[in-house]
Amino acid sequence: MDDVVDVLVIGAGPVGLTMAIALRRLLLRVRIVDQAAGPNHEARADVIFPRAGEALGALGVGETIRRHAYEMRSVNFYGNGRQLGCFTAGRFDSDYPYAMTIEQHDIELLLTEELSGLGVDVEWRTEAIDVRQRDDHVLTTLRLSNGVIQLAPAAWVVACDGRRSTVRTRLGIGFDGKRRTNMQVVQGNAVPAWALRDRPGHGYIFLGSRCTVLAFPTPGQGYRIFCIRDDPEPDRTEPPTLDELRDLVGTAAGIPHLRLGPTESGWLSRARFSDRIATEFRRGRVFLAGDAAHAWAPVGGHGMNIGMLGAHNLAWKLAAVHHRQASDTLLDSYDVEQRAIARAVIRDMKFNITEILLPEPLHRLRNVFLRAALPWSGFQRRVEWLMSDFGRGHRDSPLSRQESRRIGCLCRAGDRIPDIFVARGAGEQPIRLHQLLGYDRWTLLLTVARAEPAIVRRLQQACAGYAAAIDIVPIAAMDRSSARHLTSVHHVTLVRPDGHVGLVAPLDRLDALRDYLATFLVPRDPGSDRAVR
Ligand SMILES: Cc1cc2nc3c(=O)[nH]c(=O)nc-3n(C[C@H](O)[C@H](O)[C@H](O)COP(=O)(O)OP(=O)(O)OC[C@H]3O[C@@H](n4cnc5c(N)ncnc54)[C@H](O)[C@@H]3O)c2cc1C
Repeated sequence: MDDVVDVLVIGAGPVGLTMAIALRRLLLRVRIVDQAAGPNHEARADVIFPRAGEALGALGVGETIRRHAYEMRSVNFYGNGRQLGCFTAGRFDSDYPYAMTIEQHDIELLLTEELSGLGVDVEWRTEAIDVRQRDDHVLTTLRLSNGVIQLAPAAWVVACDGRRSTVRTRLGIGFDGKRRTNMQVVQGNAVPAWALRDRPGHGYIFLGSRCTVLAFPTPGQGYRIFCIRDDPEPDRTEPPTLDELRDLVGTAAGIPHLRLGPTESGWLSRARFSDRIATEFRRGRVFLAGDAAHAWAPVGGHGMNIGMLGAHNLAWKLAAVHHRQASDTLLDSYDVEQRAIARAVIRDMKFNITEILLPEPLHRLRNVFLRAALPWSGFQRRVEWLMSDFGRGHRDSPLSRQESRRIGCLCRAGDRIPDIFVARGAGEQPIRLHQLLGYDRWTLLLTVARAEPAIVRRLQQACAGYAAAIDIVPIAAMDRSSARHLTSVHHVTLVRPDGHVGLVAPLDRLDALRDYLATFLVPRDPGSDRAVR
């Protein structure tokens, strides 16, 4: 069938757009539809954390987003109106060391433009109303903007159609979890008149026992103000007014006569949340991603981020299987890996003491604790590590194999490979490790000291014969601190296209490498001329 696209992406929110860009970068024919008339006009997410920044960077759109965002350098904490301390960011090696504040609406606009530059325009006002699996494709029923019903065949479907996913419902996939009680989120954009210092990239968190207020400068929108508060009137659904927002901020910040001016967008929203995970992320040729697969309260603000990381996890696998470079088992690892991360995020929220609501005595204790802990670099490091998502790896995934315990480094199979500076040989300029990786290939790292021609030849032979591209890259750490992140000279590290370590194996156990590749990758067609580099 000539009209069968490779992938139909349903939903052009931040996750669907990320998914479509990633798939296009890997040369798949993509179609993306959305029932709405255009990008959302709502106060929703407005932070991209460092790991999602890296993922967008690998897809070629991170720099564009950074140009339109503020990089968050610090957050001042206040408890009951008194300053508790200041958190500063930027401790970890990365091309994206800071969280970026930018409205979800603007992110969607930029991603839409990027996708358009890749030759795919979002088909707005196009609603998916049904999906049917066939042996070798999926048939989706679309209602087009003119009301016409169209049958859209695609080899694969990725449903990024949000929390109320039609695709999930039509497939009868459960969405297990429960509603968050006594919690609502009141959000808006406003320009406060207060005695606090206003600087792009420097935000505030005001902790109260009944309301936590986060205020982050956002380009063109004054501050994005985000109030996680109790829910005395669960039936109240109308959008908040600026006065309601002002009262919440004024009370939490201890500024009784606070004035809040409107911004151009005037967005104000009130939302309640459930913590839910779909019972399956894959049904045959259909995948769920983003809020369609998992959704939770935005404590810590990771919904959009984890959804985008899920798209980054799935797209290269889908492309590899579609291009017959990898076996279908690779696709099952998406569910295992993304589900483990969704569960961990929901669990971590309960311990997010910088945002959760606590009863008054515990809230007072928290103030004491934060005043003591914030000046401590170990505490700041821990908080930054959690918020960055750098620590969210896949150690328990079937794709992660660690063939030796004593590898002499911190990074293990499943982890994100750190973006440390390395050299490609004696006298070479330092380069960031992530610049040596690519979303379109696997990378086999070994130390320069062992990159003798005979060894490299043996590695090339082990990797030859597969349709997927595998780069063999000798590297050397620049100093002792970066050396702690690299395996010893006696090991090789196979890095997946998404920057996570797939395999760590002793250099003298090439059978482990051969076995790993044979498990997940598909032998090259004898006629093909792709070479291991
Ligand atoms: C008030 C609020 C605050 C939030 N704050 C944060 C935060 O601070 N940080 C954070 O990371 N996350 C936050 N989130 C969560 C974040 O907004 C979501 O996680 C994110 O939007 C999920 O993206 P998505 O693309 O999966 O789904 P969505 O953004 O919901 O996009 C789904 C798209 O699918 C379309 N669609 C739906 N059904 C169909 C259909 N049948 N056919 C065609 N199209 C369809 C919709 O029109 C929509 O465009 C917040 C959410 C809310 C509501």
